[in-house]
Amino acid sequence: MGIIGLDVGGTKTAGILWKDGKIVARTWERTDVTSQETVLSGILATCRNLLGRASSDALRVKGIGLGIAGFIDLEEGVITEAPNLPFKDLPIREILEDELGLPVALDNDANVAALAEAKVGAARGLRHVIHLTLGTGIGGGIVIDGNIYHGARGAAAEIGHMIVKADGPRCNCGARGCLEALASGVALARRVREIAEQGKPSPMLDEYRRQPGNYPASKIAEHARKGDETAVSLLREAGYYLGVGIASLINLFNPEAITLSGGLLGAFSFMEDTMLAAVEENAIAISRRSAKILRGTLGEDAGAMGAALLAESSFGECR
Ligand SMILES: [Zn+2]
Repeated sequence: MGIIGLDVGGTKTAGILWKDGKIVARTWERTDVTSQETVLSGILATCRNLLGRASSDALRVKGIGLGIAGFIDLEEGVITEAPNLPFKDLPIREILEDELGLPVALDNDANVAALAEAKVGAARGLRHVIHLTLGTGIGGGIVIDGNIYHGARGAAAEIGHMIVKADGPRCNCGARGCLEALASGVALARRVREIAEQGKPSPMLDEYRRQPGNYPASKIAEHARKGDETAVSLLREAGYYLGVGIASLINLFNPEAITLSGGLLGAFSFMEDTMLAAVEENAIAISRRSAKILRGTLGEDAGAMGAALLAESSFGECR
């Protein structure tokens, strides 16, 4: 028996066919965010594609797991809100079950990615794991005793909005000093703009001033590798705040592992020293000793794999 795992984000809808703990087929397409209908038809097309591949392998599919970038009412199977998708109070579980005739399990995309890293990825076999995705924004998931922690209304684990500097810069969420406002791609781009406007010379800032706009973290890393001191110091600063956030997570949850993934890891060699120093400085020693800080091993597959694992645990082992 197989399971379909789907990871639906604002740019990409990725799907896998999962059997005996392995990906046996995969597919992806660009998410068409024009309307609710276009996103849904992309999800259905991805599922039908994988169902077709399963039937040509004489593999029966037991159910579908869906990781989606949004807030989810888990009891009702409804996406209540999704910042990067045109969904509002959409009963997606019922819609997909009616269309496909298969049971559907769903959860937030970062939550299922955390589950995947805890079950089959970097933290394989560990029961208490916190996962952070470091990209344009910062997402995360919390696995306690092997299960995703959801909180009262399914909105827990907004790790990017943990406050790490109370009087810090304004975050997209409206609060000040969130981790995402200090250690994400968006935060780094803002720092490049701020320092460039002060007129400081540096190859990176000169490049920014020639073509101002949304400066990507990958370019900051590129300049850091060439020895641009401003680039290096911005990444070290972001690393420090990441470490402050990780220390708080360690103090709160006493996890066995913190796993990290996302595009920002391309710049991680410049962030790691200050991150670790901030962890050592701020984490409670007994908790720090048991917390491994690991790079995720599942990469882009984490979401779809986690969705498949979620479905597997909801509908029973697939054999
Ligand atoms: Zn925030």
